Amino acid sequence: MTDCLFCKIIAGQIPAAPLYQDETLIVIKDINPQAPLHVLIIPRKHIASLNELSADDDALVGSMFRRGAALAREHGYDERGYRTVFNTNRDAGQTVFHIHLHLLAGRPLAWPPG
Ligand code: AMP
Ligand code: ZN
Repeated sequence: MTDCLFCKIIAGQIPAAPLYQDETLIVIKDINPQAPLHVLIIPRKHIASLNELSADDDALVGSMFRRGAALAREHGYDERGYRTVFNTNRDAGQTVFHIHLHLLAGRPLAWPPG
């Protein structure tokens, strides 16, 4: 996906300092953090939104959530709590159309969300 910001980061065309990476995922700090810990867990595979997920992606999405839990634990937020969010399309405010799981922690997070 030549026009996709996260594909460019994954390809190394835009510099980023990954907090974690493996053969299927990359984790970067959000450029506009909304909490003391705000990272994005991004699959290397380009999938535009949750609407494009297939059953083949079940293990991939599971690994994204498990990585989020591991990062929360590593940063000491597993007991206090944290939020994991996928935004999908306009009403949810999706701006980058390559799926990414937000991990937010380090402050009380209001519910219902805005
Ligand atoms: P969403 O609104 O769910 O699509 O989330 C996109 C997120 O990507 C936003 O929280 C942005 O702050 C973040 N973002 C945009 N550009 C970059 C970048 N170059 N590096 C890291 N995060 C970014
Ligand atoms: Zn992409």
